[in-house]
Parts: sequence; structure tokens; C-alpha cells
Amino acid sequence: MLFNTELLHGKTSQGYASGEILPPVSQVSAFRYESMEELEKVFAHKKMGYAYSRIGNPTIASFEQRIKELEGGAGAICCSSGMSAVTAALLAVCESGDEIIAGSGLYGGTIGLFHDLEKLGIHTVFAHDLSAENVKSLINEKTKVVFGELISNPALKVLDVTEMAAVAHEAGIPLFVDSTSATPYIAKPLSLGADVVIHSTSKYLNGGGNSIGGVIVDGGKFKWNTEKHKALAEFKKYGPMAFSVRLRTDIWENLGGCMAPFNAFLTYIGTDTLGLRMERICHNADRLAHALAELDGIEVNYLTLDSHPCHEYVENELNGFGGGILSFRAGSKERAFKIIDSLKYAVIASNIGDLRTLVIHPASTLYIQTNKEEMELAGVYEDTVRVSVGIEDADDLIADFTEAVKSADQ
Ligand SMILES: *Cc1c(COP(=O)(O)O)cnc(C)c1O
Repeated sequence: MLFNTELLHGKTSQGYASGEILPPVSQVSAFRYESMEELEKVFAHKKMGYAYSRIGNPTIASFEQRIKELEGGAGAICCSSGMSAVTAALLAVCESGDEIIAGSGLYGGTIGLFHDLEKLGIHTVFAHDLSAENVKSLINEKTKVVFGELISNPALKVLDVTEMAAVAHEAGIPLFVDSTSATPYIAKPLSLGADVVIHSTSKYLNGGGNSIGGVIVDGGKFKWNTEKHKALAEFKKYGPMAFSVRLRTDIWENLGGCMAPFNAFLTYIGTDTLGLRMERICHNADRLAHALAELDGIEVNYLTLDSHPCHEYVENELNGFGGGILSFRAGSKERAFKIIDSLKYAVIASNIGDLRTLVIHPASTLYIQTNKEEMELAGVYEDTVRVSVGIEDADDLIADFTEAVKSADQ
């Protein structure tokens, strides 16, 4: 089965108690048992069952199953947000004294989290360039994980997953990839060698802009050495599943960042149309980028443009797609604001991955707390406009942006 057929007719879409076509919404906090003996078995993991929705819930489990299959993983765990997923995944493998190597130009919240982790004794080394050579020179015996975003935004740097996984694995370190802006339709990082994939499901997986969520998918292939990864010492007996078991029965459960059942349902429905949406969104983004590139005083950053430094990854790693985000430089902050304010369809909002085209001036919003150097490494300048392209008709989008640029110059 190909992508869309599998989404709609694959294993995940079957087996609900009353033959429901979609996972029923178990909007409950707790589950009732007929005998104490039975509940005891559930708590001891001797019987499959649900007890309390922070720890497990059938609606959430259906969504976990779906994402696990979409990414080709061995286990998936849903979280209350993308940030909650990044936090739980990192805390499962790092303890005080450990180090993380992270790419530059990451999502602002993730950079903030790395700063917070310093106070817990977990140090992050930022690699301005996630090249094999550079990362090799930064790895030491304290390094416990390499973390990168598959497609960073708005810089649109592409992580070479195969190369980075090889470098990390040689040193006995796993590679964690935040694949939020790529989605499994564009790339499956686990199949390229990554060990753990993280998504903010708030974005493209949900797709409709109606709920916050996150997910961690474990490839289940990394050979954990618990002498090195002491954070997993108690979970040694689970072998390659040590990370998943630590998350599920320990750090994730205790941090308490579970996904809400209703959000799991909404996001599940969202993923039904993931392929359809991504195809349309990438097509629109490609057309809009090429149209913007024709306009005077507009410098466009989009992966399918020949001028983009990561252009070759579109065919090699991204299934032929450039993703749904593009950015452009307008020459000045004033002109950027004028263009944004003149747009008729693009909505001014701080989000990506909606059905609607969203637009924002990152320097004065998302990066307001970031210093200039970090900001520029993230591809954000005073005159940068970020566009999260939606599913509108491409011709309307092109006309809207063209008119806005013209009217800004009047
Ligand atoms: C939005 C986002 C996050 C954080 O997700 P939330 O659901 O907002 O907590 C993390 N990484 C990337 C790449 C994102 O775009």
C-alpha cells in the first residue's frame, strides 16, 4: 500500500470495539474494574488495560499506533505539546553532568529548553553547522545525544540524517530528529538512520490548527550501553526498547505531559489527510516561492529554488518536496510590515502547518528574546517574513502576495 491508502486502510484504522470507522473518544480520567485482582494485574503490566488517562487511554493509543506506523517506529508516545515531547525525550537519556550536541537555528522553544536544562546540570553544545567533521570534533565522553531538526525554519537548513547518524553511532550516541516541519510524508528519519523522531503534532500532523500536541517515536534499534547512558541503567534489561520503557513507565509518566484524548482524536482525523495536504501545500509553496522570486527587492528562501544551498536534499532526502514554509527578505522591517499588513488571505498568526496560509515577522515576535547572532543563525533578519503556506488556490496566493508587495511600494 502506498502512503494515502495505508493511512486510510492500514492496520491502525481497524479493530475498534464496535466497528467504529474512527477511534472512539474515551473522554474519561479513569477506567472501572470488576475486581481488585484485575486492576492489580494492569498495574503490574501483567494484563493489557487502562487505569488512568495520564498513563494510558485508548484514543491516545490509537493515535500513537498510527504515528508509529507512519514513521516506521517500534513505539510511540504522545505528549501534551511538542515542547513536552522534546523535554521528555531528552530527560529520558540525559542526567546532570551530561552533554547534548544540537544544531543551530532550532525552534525557539527548544533553544529556551536547552538554556533551562543548564540549571539541571545538562549542558548543550550548539553546532553552528551540523556537518560530520564539526560534530565529530564536539563529541566527548559526556555527550549523550545529538539533536537536530530535519528542516529548520525559517533558515530551511536540512539535516543530513544518514551522515549525522553515522557520526553519532560511531561514538555510541543516538540521533534525535525533530521532524515537525518535514512530516512523514516528506521524510521518514528512522529509515535514514535516526534513532528517535519527535513531532509537534500541533503543526502539520493535526493540520487544521485545532489542538496542541507532541509525539516521540522510537526506532527501537539503537544499542543502548547503560554504562554510557546511565540515565537508562535501570532499564538495561529491555535492550533496544530501554528508551521507550523508561519514557513510558518513568519520566514521561511522571512529568505528566500526556496528550488530551480529544486532541488525540482531532489530530488522528488530521492525519487522515496528511498526504493530500502536504502535496497541495508543497505545490503551493513551490509556486509562490518562484513567483515571489520574480518580484523586485524580494529575496526568497525556499528549498526548491536552485539558489538554495540545501537544494540537492529535495531529491535526496525529502521525497522531491520543499516543505510548506518559505521566507523572504523584504529589504527593511518597515517594508516587511507593510507587505504583511496588505495581505488579504494570509493570516497574521504565530503558527505553522495550518490549512490557511499564515504569515509572521519573526524578528519582532518569535525571536524577540534571541540575540542577533543566534537570530541570524536561525535565518532571521530584521526584514525577514515567514510564510507557512496553506491549501488555498495557488493563483489566489500568488495574486495576494504580488499585490501586497506592489502596494507596499506605493
Ligand atoms: C512548534 C514546534 C515545536 C514545539 O511544539 P509545541 O506543540 O508548540 O509545543 C518544536 N519543534 C518545532 C520544529 C516546532 O515547529
